[in-house]
Amino acid sequence: MKMEFNIALLKGDGIGVEIVDSAVAVLEKVAEKFGHKFNFTPYLIGGCAIDATGKPLPQETVDGCLASDSVLLGAVGGTKWDNQPGNNRPEKALLGIREALGLYTNLRPAKLYPSLRSASPLKEEIVGDGFDLMIVRELTGGIYFGDRGYRQGKYGEEAFDTEAYSVTEIERIGRVAFETAMKRNKKLTSIDKANVLESSRLWRKTMHELSKEYPEVEYNDMFVDNAAMQLVRNPQQFDVIVTSNMFGDILSDEASQITGSIGMLASASLGSTKRGMYEPIHGSAPDIAGQNKANPIATILSGAMMLRYSFGLSDEADCIEKAVDKVLNDGWRTADLMGSAEGTPLTCTEMTEKVLEAL
Ligand code: NAD
Repeated sequence: MKMEFNIALLKGDGIGVEIVDSAVAVLEKVAEKFGHKFNFTPYLIGGCAIDATGKPLPQETVDGCLASDSVLLGAVGGTKWDNQPGNNRPEKALLGIREALGLYTNLRPAKLYPSLRSASPLKEEIVGDGFDLMIVRELTGGIYFGDRGYRQGKYGEEAFDTEAYSVTEIERIGRVAFETAMKRNKKLTSIDKANVLESSRLWRKTMHELSKEYPEVEYNDMFVDNAAMQLVRNPQQFDVIVTSNMFGDILSDEASQITGSIGMLASASLGSTKRGMYEPIHGSAPDIAGQNKANPIATILSGAMMLRYSFGLSDEADCIEKAVDKVLNDGWRTADLMGSAEGTPLTCTEMTEKVLEAL
């Protein structure tokens, strides 16, 4: 069935421009192949928005994203805007747009492709044939949003932050995680610190209740300190991980590092509607911006996630992921993936061409 979707494009700064153009070329090719229509509308965000309007997140951008079916983001930031006051920095726009779109879930796949095994800092015997896990992180609750402040304590002035989670918030993120596991290998690990934290005990109890609704999903709990260790000891044991805002922040960075290739990793932020925001996990890479050296694959795979999670187009998403697999298996590499290998790396546009050919 022919489908039509409106996609807001937030290219942002630095390599954001190059990599979003690559993802658009791939999405257009997929639309043509499967008979769909994607309408793209660009909006300003980050440093380029400050230059044009004085603000990193203009109202027009928020309105445009709210009126679209989904949002594709490149990256924001750069040294040019380092002297902006804290509340007007390019990165501030990211929190603003997530809040405006009500995005409370962050999905971060960490996949080590067998063909890129040597990029992982882990030993070959640990990495085996690679791994493929998905971290589901709660994005709008917990200690980053709880009560905070200063007060007089036993040793004089002290600062405090508060971790608080409601059953509603835990159920909401838990459901996303179980549904995600159902679409993958039906295995879910919930990560908490229930041996110490009251909020984690409620987290665990609520997840256990929810697990009864998903008997097909093999469910287990793990303490966060153990999880940090297990990720580098045996990452293959994980399929889907669900965890709180702060634990997810830390563990998702750890998981991305063990794949060894920041230019390959996509992410999705989702809320209660089908609309999501999809972006690579890396930043605007000012050191290589404008040089046609960036690896576009993280953004191309973010486009695939958009098709799967916002538009329900799984075959189309599979098609992009398989094309990326093929290009890597054929040995094509951008500079960031070369490691100590000999040869000339592909440019951003050449890598995009290879993916388009493989489609
Ligand atoms: P970065 O991710 O931009 O770059 C880190 C290193 O990885 C650099 O050497 C860069 O060249 C390389 N790299 C990143 N993406 C690459 C790609 N696709 N292909 C090849 N190499 C790639 O992180 P940083 O240097 O810490 O931050 C640069 C700017 O980006 C800062 O202003 C920061 O605030 C911003 N930032 C934005 C986001 C976002 O927009 N979501 C996320 C992180 C950082």
